[in-house]
Amino acid sequence: MAKASRQSMKAGGKSVKHVYFFGGGKADGTAAMKNLLGGKGANLAEMASLGIPVPPGFTITTDACVHYFKNGGAYPTGLKQQVEKALRRVEEVTGKTFGDPANPLLVSVRSGARQSMPGMMETVLNVGLTSKTMPGLIKRSGNARFVYDAYRRLIQMYSDVVMEKAAGIEPKEGMGVRQQLERELHAMKKRLGVKQDTELSAKHLEELIGIYKRTVKNALGKPFPDDAIEQLWGGIAAVFQSWNGKRAISYRRIEGIPDEWGTACNVQTMVFGNMGDKSATGVAFTRNPATGEHIFYGEWLPNAQGEDVVAGIRTPNPINEAGKTDDTKHLASLETAMPKLYTQLDAIQRTLERHYTDMQDIEFTIEDGTLYMLQTRTGKRNGPAAVRMAVEMVREKLIGADEAVMRVRPDQLDELLHPIVDPAAERTAKPIAKGLPAGPGGGTGQVVFTANDAVAWKKQGKQVILVREETNPEDVEGMRAAAAILTSRGGMTSHAALVARGWGKCCIVGAGSVEVDMASRTFTTNGVRLKEGDWITLNGTKGVAYEGKLPMVKAAEENPDFVALMELTDKSRRLGVRANADTPADAKRARAFGAQGIGLFRTEHMFYGAGSDEPLFKLRKMIMSSTEAERRAAVDELFPHVKADMKATLEAMEGLPVTIRTLDPPLHEFVPHAPEAQAELAGALGISVEALQKRARDLEETNPMMGHRGVRLGVTYPEVTEMQVRAVLEATAELLAEGTRAFPEIMIPVTCSVNELTNQKEIAVRVHDEVCAKYGVKKVPHSFGTMIEIPRAALTAGKIAEVVEFFSYGTNDLTQMTFGFSRDDIGGFAPDYIEKGILADDPFQTIDTEAVGELIDIGIRRGRATRPKLKVGICGEHGGEPRSVWFCHGVGMDYVSCSPFRVPIARLAAAQAAIADKRAVRPAAKKKAARKPAKKAAKKKVAKKKVAKKKVARKKPPRKKAARKKTRRKR
Ligand code: ADP
Ligand code: MG
Ligand code: MG
Repeated sequence: MAKASRQSMKAGGKSVKHVYFFGGGKADGTAAMKNLLGGKGANLAEMASLGIPVPPGFTITTDACVHYFKNGGAYPTGLKQQVEKALRRVEEVTGKTFGDPANPLLVSVRSGARQSMPGMMETVLNVGLTSKTMPGLIKRSGNARFVYDAYRRLIQMYSDVVMEKAAGIEPKEGMGVRQQLERELHAMKKRLGVKQDTELSAKHLEELIGIYKRTVKNALGKPFPDDAIEQLWGGIAAVFQSWNGKRAISYRRIEGIPDEWGTACNVQTMVFGNMGDKSATGVAFTRNPATGEHIFYGEWLPNAQGEDVVAGIRTPNPINEAGKTDDTKHLASLETAMPKLYTQLDAIQRTLERHYTDMQDIEFTIEDGTLYMLQTRTGKRNGPAAVRMAVEMVREKLIGADEAVMRVRPDQLDELLHPIVDPAAERTAKPIAKGLPAGPGGGTGQVVFTANDAVAWKKQGKQVILVREETNPEDVEGMRAAAAILTSRGGMTSHAALVARGWGKCCIVGAGSVEVDMASRTFTTNGVRLKEGDWITLNGTKGVAYEGKLPMVKAAEENPDFVALMELTDKSRRLGVRANADTPADAKRARAFGAQGIGLFRTEHMFYGAGSDEPLFKLRKMIMSSTEAERRAAVDELFPHVKADMKATLEAMEGLPVTIRTLDPPLHEFVPHAPEAQAELAGALGISVEALQKRARDLEETNPMMGHRGVRLGVTYPEVTEMQVRAVLEATAELLAEGTRAFPEIMIPVTCSVNELTNQKEIAVRVHDEVCAKYGVKKVPHSFGTMIEIPRAALTAGKIAEVVEFFSYGTNDLTQMTFGFSRDDIGGFAPDYIEKGILADDPFQTIDTEAVGELIDIGIRRGRATRPKLKVGICGEHGGEPRSVWFCHGVGMDYVSCSPFRVPIARLAAAQAAIADKRAVRPAAKKKAARKPAKKAAKKKVAKKKVAKKKVARKKPPRKKAARKKTRRKR
């Protein structure tokens, strides 16, 4: 192996190694070489080295594929010779010869990229079967039927993949060569009155082959190649080409996989699961990928080729007794049908999981009583399963705590917190179909039958459920658009199940009662007929579908695995996590999710929604006052409401910090428009309605977002600030006197200058003294700080920090003012900006590290230069977005604050950022460097901007490209 990698280092010329052999207990490659050999090739090599039975073969590198595309379809120098040499080696190990009439070697030609793209690229099986080699194989296998069947499968796959797709031919709808051949097969079965392919005899298949060959010639104008070597090179080129197939490209867009990677190509000795009753094929997982339960879990089919299990054509059998369900209990498990081989397979799966220290997704084939492994890869799993596996693997001492934390993606955690069908409603709902629970959680939507419709309806703002017989890789975009997916065929490893699980989407597969009629756009199930546009609801956790639109509820947070994972994250993270909460109820929820305080309490909240009538009326009186005396009177009336509101939330937080923001929105937002409301208010103020309307007009602004709001109100109406500060401090003093801990942080919004803060702080200091006198205490604990949401504030942070003890970045406004993009109107152009690559992301979703991030960093550095202990947090919506959390960690913030439901996600992202930091520092520097505070490392990064960007990019969690929510206005 060392020799191999040294060879590959020699750049240029003939000595570049393009081909890596594996088999017979040896391999040139290793699992670490995924970039060069693709995931499949690297793991085949690894398995071979581990002594696991793998059919021998070789891998052509992704570099060769990249070269192929850069050079208009030409192979790199030396590739042909290296392939021939490797083929000779395969022949030696197997004792068979490629293209040999007496004892022919057959191979599969398989794609395999760096990152798994299941089913998105092509594979051709049975390559090497020709009129010359068939008789030899018939003689050796003693099974003509099997050989003819393999040959007709080869024609089917090869004509489709190599002769049509790779040649760039785009047939008309329904006229693809594969479909034409399938129609011939159906026609023959109909003629003979048989149902299953297996009922066709050798003679029938021989006849079918003749028909197939004529059909191929007619459809494509070329004969099916009857030469083994020509087939092999055709297959290799087609696998490379499939990297740029439509499906592969669209999958890469969704998953954010770069186009430049290319695919490797694996040429591997064929083994046959369809040789008779002692043959079989299957797909399995070392743990249940839907629940995380630690049982060997999978499906198999006797007498079948690998494709059959995943294609969802036959409903597969459970692999063992433990994995049986009500629907599969009558089917024979591999455990009982072939106990010895099952034991061997079970031992291999244990070895693989221990070796890779992660759940593996494996493919195997049994050829006439001998077991072969065809693939292993780290298995996709949904959120609940990811969490359970991570914490259980720590308990099993398979992995450490840090690794467990890194194993769960923040969006997977989201799935645990995602809605499920309301159990109360479900109890009385009428199930219309039952299938396999392929993707958990609940989903409700209107029925559509095609992927295109799913995309189109979603665009119109509808919520849809995609109902299909089965899905295939062409459907991925529609599957993405759908709220949930329901199929009538296929098992837990079918395409629909695999894809849905990867995305954590609600999905039911193999609901056998569902009969889709595409012509009338309806489906029937258990006597119910539903048409396109009708509402249905799925419970993907149970695998049950219901008619109608059932209500959803949030999933339980009490999941013990979730709690255990959260405890692990708290061990490694440095960033604090707080919640934005405006009510005692929100505060309690936030604490249940692990929030360490409230990072944003919006005073104005009490003037909206339930119970707001009285305080709102009094606020309006205050706003509409025209003299200070009038206003003071109104403010005094408002005071008890504000105080009570703040006290309740401070009490709920029991001494954890609560950042209370003084009144932020422009006042005109509260002006009444309804005539009755105006009349009532005018009456209360003792003025005419006309006079009131005039005062209201005077408050109107051309650009209220940049108008008379935030601190500007406090400067113009000091009594308003005064009242709020008094409310906070009196509430605190009273709580303390009652024996309840409380710690408010008074935060002034929309500041751009230190002078504004000096002005407001004077008020705060004076009120503090008055409150102390009133309650007979020396001081009322609190701190005084500001939001940083205007670029000028960030740039003058050094001065501002002289007056305040903390900063909280309001990144919604900071983004708005840095870009000059109105966050209420960005919807009009943001999609174009992203589509055209002008913006990589919506900056209101994830922090723009280049400029907004730079302002944040400058603000922190200048602020801390003045006041080293300056506390810094973020309270914009970015505070719960994983990539932004990573950024906040990197610039040395003390905490992030986000909506209560995002708190667990922020905790996980914060822990991952800290672990990634630790891991990145270790190998480069020694122990001393590893102990350096993360802040310092982060500062250096931003100073060396280019380097920093690369680093940050590498460490960023994977993006979710498709999720582009419309930005909402929310202060
Ligand atoms: P994918 O990446 O889409 O899963 P694969 O390369 O794994 O594609 O091949 C598709 C199917 O063909 C698999 O189910 C596999 O079991 C089967 N297959 C591939 N190579 C061989 C082989 N050498 N012998 C038998 N079956 C094979
Ligand atoms: Mg595969
Ligand atoms: Mg703001």
